[in-house]
This record gives sequence, structure tokens and C-alpha cells, in this order.
Amino acid sequence: MITTKNVIKKFGDIEVLKGINLSMREGEQCALLGGSGSGKSTLLYLLGGLDKPSSGKILVARKELDILNDEELSEFRNQKIGFVFQFHFLLPSITCLDNIYLPVKISNRPIEEYKELITMLANYLGVEHCLHKYPYQISGGEQQRINIIRALILKPKILLCDEPTGNLDSKNSEKVISLLKELATQFRSTLIVVTHSNKIAAEFERKITIEDGQLIS
Ligand code: ADP
Ligand code: MG
Repeated sequence: MITTKNVIKKFGDIEVLKGINLSMREGEQCALLGGSGSGKSTLLYLLGGLDKPSSGKILVARKELDILNDEELSEFRNQKIGFVFQFHFLLPSITCLDNIYLPVKISNRPIEEYKELITMLANYLGVEHCLHKYPYQISGGEQQRINIIRALILKPKILLCDEPTGNLDSKNSEKVISLLKELATQFRSTLIVVTHSNKIAAEFERKITIEDGQLIS
């Protein structure tokens, strides 16, 4: 599902990723570890088609990302990728429910088909009372959980999560991780979770660490 070959990413003169070779099967789940500033978010952005490598090949869901144009990349992200950002990006001018519906609308699917799944996920994560509020009316942890529902709604084949429990207490962190794992299993999604927590990393059979711009398994 994911193959990268010698991926290098530079920002100016600084080489952040120094030849990343990663492969993940369909349905595989892993934790991505590494110190602050080691390039974890950068790698996730590349895998999700939000940025391009300075050199190297990235193959995700049989698409060679470096040869897609911007329009093709947007479609690829909408159809294949669920992204949970480290700093959640909900649109401030629409309600949480409308934020969750965005990927559904972009893909031209009927929103009625998603109501049940949204209610189920919102109940499980304890954010049902947030659905008709605007993002500024709810807490950071609630925004994080709304963000997670939005990322999961289209049952993406690849689920990329950047410190998804950063703003949550330990009880909600556990809930979020078990939900991500459970749904990834159900949808046969390939799941990568960036985390600083050894406890969360311990939930994953496969752990990869970025150190000095390279991966160590
Ligand atoms: P992590 O997520 O592991 O904390 P990041 O991937 O965010 O690390 O960043 C890795 C390094 O790349 C850091 O030194 C950061 O300052 C730098 N960096 C990330 N994005 C950019 C950017 N858009 N422009 C310049 N430098 C960047
Ligand atoms: Mg980061």
C-alpha cells in the first residue's frame, strides 16, 4: 500500500529526510516515533500527497505521487487518505457537523448515507453535543475528536495520524487509539500513528523510529 524509495526532503540547505525506505502492506498498522523536529510530520505530509519530496519515489495505493498534478493529488487525498493533523484544522466558519461532511461533499456522495456512522462515532467519542456547534465553541480535545471523525468518514485506505492524542487526557487517548485501530482493521486501512507516548506505541506490533533523517525499525 505504501512504498518509498530513497526519499529525500530538504528545506533550504537542511536535509530533514535523508533517504527514507519504507514499505507497508494493506491493513498494516504501525507507530512512528522520533524526537521533536526529527521529520515525522514531514514524512506524513509526503505520504499523504500534501508536499513533494526533493528526490526519491513515493508509491501510495498504486499511485506514483511525484507524477500527479495538483488536481490529481487533491482527488487522491480525498479518495484514499484520512489525515488527522497534529494541529487540527477545522474550518471555523461552519459547524462541526458540516466540517465532518466536507470530504463527503467533495467526493459527491450523498450525505444521508453517512448520518448513522457519524452518530455512532460521535457517541463513542463523547462529542455528540458538539456536532451543531462551531469549532470555537468547543475545547481543543473536542476539536481533535471531531477532526478524527472527519478523517474516518470516507473509510480511507490510508489513515495518517499526527499525534492524534496530543490534546487528550489518558482516558480519551486510549479510546481514540482503540477506535483508530478497530476501524483501520474493519476498513483494512493502512494506519500510521505518530506518537511520543511509549504506552501508545506499545499498542502497535510494528514500531518505526526516525533518527537522524533515517528510519530504524
Ligand atoms: P516532527 O514532526 O518530527 O517534530 P517536522 O517534520 O515537523 O518534525 O520538522 C522536521 C524539521 O524540518 C524541523 O527542523 C523543522 O523545523 C523543519 N521544517 C518542517 N517544515 C518546514 C518548512 N515548511 N520549512 C522549513 N523547515 C521546515
Ligand atoms: Mg510533528
